[in-house]
Amino acid sequence: MSFDSLGLSAELLRAIHDQGYTEPTPIQEKTIPVILEGADVLAGAQTGTGKTAAFTLPMLQHLNARNRGGGKRPVRALVLTPTRELAAQVAESVKTYGRHLRLTSAVVFGGVSINPQIDTLRRGVDILIATPGRLLDHANRRTLDLSKIEILVLDEADRMLDMGFIHDIRRVLALLPDNSQRQSLLFSATFSAEIKKLADRLLNQPILVEVARRNTTADRIEQVVHPVDKLRKRELLSHLIRSRNWRQVLVFTRTKHGANRLAQQLGRDGINASAIHGNKSQQARTRALAAFKSGDVQVLVATDLASRGLDIDQLPHVVNFELPNVPEDYIHRIGRTGRAGHEGEAVSLVCIDEHKLLRDIERLLKQELPRDVLSAFAPDPRIQAEPIKNGRGGAARGGAGRSQPGRSRSQTGGGRPSRNKRNPEGRQNSRAGAARSRRRSRTRSA
Ligand code: AMP
Repeated sequence: MSFDSLGLSAELLRAIHDQGYTEPTPIQEKTIPVILEGADVLAGAQTGTGKTAAFTLPMLQHLNARNRGGGKRPVRALVLTPTRELAAQVAESVKTYGRHLRLTSAVVFGGVSINPQIDTLRRGVDILIATPGRLLDHANRRTLDLSKIEILVLDEADRMLDMGFIHDIRRVLALLPDNSQRQSLLFSATFSAEIKKLADRLLNQPILVEVARRNTTADRIEQVVHPVDKLRKRELLSHLIRSRNWRQVLVFTRTKHGANRLAQQLGRDGINASAIHGNKSQQARTRALAAFKSGDVQVLVATDLASRGLDIDQLPHVVNFELPNVPEDYIHRIGRTGRAGHEGEAVSLVCIDEHKLLRDIERLLKQELPRDVLSAFAPDPRIQAEPIKNGRGGAARGGAGRSQPGRSRSQTGGGRPSRNKRNPEGRQNSRAGAARSRRRSRTRSA
């Protein structure tokens, strides 16, 4: 199938052609015609499927067709994203696909000065891409009027709920025209009961579009588990990077502190690495990402929160240095590779403490991940499982066994207990009672 048959205008087809895309991805093929018809859409699509273009292209077409020009432009389309990185990424796509149209766009998120954003909004924009916290900040300061919104997009809605944005989303909805007066599109990788509830509230007789089976990982990603002792993970990672000549590797750790420490240790091994996480300023995050994309930095060590929205074309290797506490995060993490038709490899370094987390992930995937024990790094059978420390001074979840009071801290490999009592990425040790921490993390991430 070609893009020509989807009903897109010549200007948009030209922008698609400029990008070198020859055919629509499945989500684009299914959603673009129904959005062009004006329907509300509930779309199930993971990151990496081409979902951004799936909503951006028809959105641009509608706005352009109804473009009245002249005078100050009211914001007519709003795209909400969970993270700054994703907001920046979507904003870039809006500019790329809209390059032959006379529409204006802006992106607003927290962590940077609000004043330049106020100036931009004052001049008037057609399309606004925003994280919920900063958007509400603008609304409260009355530097933004959302009453003329014609199209609303919630991107990665499942992630927004995971991050505790539901109250902010409700507040934003209250500022918009009624759902019969606007077109609403909700994109989510997974459909939980919470997402369905949100969809009921947000969407008006939506068309359901699903491209990948729920909770499945992209086909083109080769996944492998290397069992290894916790204290030898860094050594194994350096070995893999060197011996396999990996040029661009995204590595996930569970905590910000762990990300910093690993980047430093890799640096000492002579491997050029940077860390990216929620404690870094927006400028530092953007800089690290740009250096990684350009190849100046070989290894980017990231936490889950910071990883959302990272769109790096053809990223060949993702490494789970530590497995995530929340199994769904595994899918989001490895979705950073194998994007848009390219092959990718996702390697997990799993120590004995993480066996329960691995089982949870495999249960979610409905698939057992292949194990490959590298002989030089075979786990020591004498080491027993320890509860996993999440930087909360010993709070544990997911460890397969009992604590070993007799073992020293360095043996258990948990590192220094964090002086910071808060969970480093706003993550909870269990889903229960997560809301409070999520609310806290929200303020820091948006
Ligand atoms: P997304 O799922 O929106 O994050 O997109 C993932 C990647 O796919 C981005 O790097 C896009 O540039 C790329 N992409 C989007 N649509 C297409 C297409 N039709 N053909 C090839 N690549 C695409």
